[in-house]
Amino acid sequence: MQKCELCDGNSFHVIATEIREGPGTILQCDTCGLVFQDIQQTENDLKQYYNEEYQKTNSLREGSVQTPKEHFDDSIRAFKAVFERIRPFLAKDKRVLDIGCGTGELLYMVKPHVAEAVGIELNEDFARFIRDDLGITAYAEDVNRMDFPDRSFDLIFCIMTLDHLPNPLETLSTMKRLLKDNGLIYIEVPNRGEALNYFLPEQNRKRFNTFFWHRAHYFYFTKETLSGMLKKAGLAANISCRHQYTLVNFLNWYFCGTPQKTFVDATSKSHLFAGESAFEKRMNGLLDKTEKEFQAILSDTCTGDSLCCIAKHSGK
Ligand SMILES: [Zn+2]
Repeated sequence: MQKCELCDGNSFHVIATEIREGPGTILQCDTCGLVFQDIQQTENDLKQYYNEEYQKTNSLREGSVQTPKEHFDDSIRAFKAVFERIRPFLAKDKRVLDIGCGTGELLYMVKPHVAEAVGIELNEDFARFIRDDLGITAYAEDVNRMDFPDRSFDLIFCIMTLDHLPNPLETLSTMKRLLKDNGLIYIEVPNRGEALNYFLPEQNRKRFNTFFWHRAHYFYFTKETLSGMLKKAGLAANISCRHQYTLVNFLNWYFCGTPQKTFVDATSKSHLFAGESAFEKRMNGLLDKTEKEFQAILSDTCTGDSLCCIAKHSGK
């Protein structure tokens, strides 16, 4: 019998039967509301998935499989916002671990500011790129299997990774074990409560919902369920919200019900006009002003796409 990762309950209901990749089952716990995918994969299945399939079905450029370098170049822009959030915690004497570090974008930005940076990434090509091209230590291994001594790290990052894991609670416990007494953990996960899941015309909302459920994502957290899981792992957390995508992307979903072709466009192209006429320049200026207000609304109402969490030992 399946057991809820958060509350140990065993009563669930189906909330979706179609996911981005085709048929799939998304369940919600009747007791605590945790949302998760009904999928059983062994550790080897998971490694194989990230090494052979993930980059084909989750490319940052629809329809093309990117090299690690191409992925790094597209993805690093999006990490600038993450870097700004963690920058206050960096110092020359700190040891940093990034769990699910992709092609090492964040490690690359962080490394000059800390004593040591280490990455964990299941995709072996990515881990090799980090070692060979970025000159940063990286392991293609489950962090729960690593033999780092207890309290090894001052800072642990886990960006858009916890939701990919079949065992988030075990991994949070491992993070707590590896974290120094005064250390900090910074986590980002997709927000189940994001505006696009709720506030689109019905047909396009259904399309976005299907796009949101994702073979790679085992768990779909809200602020409440993420907070509950951190508490269960013995961590005290402060959770806020941000939105990576632009207002233009939101309007694209609102009116057309489709994603944009590339991640870079969807997260950085905030203008509608390419020309230099007076009309186009002023219209783009209007969008710039509106973009800031759009981001503020989603952050304040916790309806952005990402939950951002700073956690530390709770002392319990
Ligand atoms: Zn539950």
